[in-house]
Amino acid sequence: MADKRDYYEVLGVSKNASDAEIKKAYRVVAKKYHPDANPGDTVAEEKFKEAAEAYAVLSDPEKKQKYDTYGHAAFDPNSQAGQGFGGFDFSDMGDIFGDIFGDMFGGGSKQRQSNGPVKGANIKTTVRVSFEEAVFGTSTEIELPLKDECPVCKSSGSQPGHQPETCNKCGGKGQVVYTQQSLFGMARTVQACPECMGSGKIIKYKCSNCAGSGYVKSKKRIQIAVPAGIDNGQSIRIRDKGEPGINGGGRGDLLVTVLVDRHAVFQRQEYDLYSSEPITFTQAALGGRVTLNTIDGPYDYDIKPGTQTNTKIKLKGKGVPTLRNKTVRGDHYVTLIVQVPDNLTDEQKSILNQYEAASTVNARSSTDSAGDFSFGNHKKKKGFKKP
Ligand SMILES: [Zn+2]
Ligand SMILES: [Zn+2]
Repeated sequence: MADKRDYYEVLGVSKNASDAEIKKAYRVVAKKYHPDANPGDTVAEEKFKEAAEAYAVLSDPEKKQKYDTYGHAAFDPNSQAGQGFGGFDFSDMGDIFGDIFGDMFGGGSKQRQSNGPVKGANIKTTVRVSFEEAVFGTSTEIELPLKDECPVCKSSGSQPGHQPETCNKCGGKGQVVYTQQSLFGMARTVQACPECMGSGKIIKYKCSNCAGSGYVKSKKRIQIAVPAGIDNGQSIRIRDKGEPGINGGGRGDLLVTVLVDRHAVFQRQEYDLYSSEPITFTQAALGGRVTLNTIDGPYDYDIKPGTQTNTKIKLKGKGVPTLRNKTVRGDHYVTLIVQVPDNLTDEQKSILNQYEAASTVNARSSTDSAGDFSFGNHKKKKGFKKP
């Protein structure tokens, strides 16, 4: 309170200024620092609030007299003078703003908006498709309760032969302005009128078809084209299937989020597919033709002899069609897993034992020769190092 500027100084008028001079001075200051003219400028906003507060006091004869006598202490609830006055109530600021800005800014943009055409709200819903349907695209139908203009009252909400009346509380604007002194200065809030719920109209004789709402809900079947390549969580926008607009505004849109089921075999990442396929160790060792699962169906593939487990192979263009162009597809990566048999017959065991015996001889002879080689190498190196 102590560092508050003098109200006359804020408006740039003398202490003897007439009511007309105060009002004129306030218009000049308020127009200069109005938030609409200085978007984002906090200094201007503070000056604007300061001027509004000064004018609220100096335009009121009773408050002006208190201020002239006690200064700012008149409105300080902690001071003696303020206590007698009961503090300063800024709740009547709304009248001041309406009074001044009504003719200064030609009604104010916010008030015009409430009576102008407003696009209807969007509606959100979900649709579930299988993994394959998401990959190749599908067409599905959903049933949704949609609001439509009431055919009996043409969305006025009134019985035929009656008209809605202008709301008294907000004068048909649909909004009420509250201005209050807060810790941070003057706070101005615009709220929907509680009397008419923001419509600006009061309906006395409600239309029996829509109970005065002006709209009727009915279940509509809506066709949804799910494009090939869509991924889990992506949305499809269907224009003009949302809530109806207000005052002639267009309908909102329907936003359908697609939920894609998991697949037992394939995992998807972007437009690529991933899967793993078991191969026998004989196939791994000898190579040969295996049949792999792809999203297009079984696919024959020749694996090389000596294929190790966890070998990844790339099937180019066997992935998911891209949303932009379904002839362009991602790839499919298959990981080959070599299976070790755990239920061998006696015959198989005998064959594997023979195989092992042959391998051991093979491995020993190769180790021996490798040993010789390395020994020779070692010797050579030593020989080189010796002076
Ligand atoms: Zn109706
Ligand atoms: Zn109202």
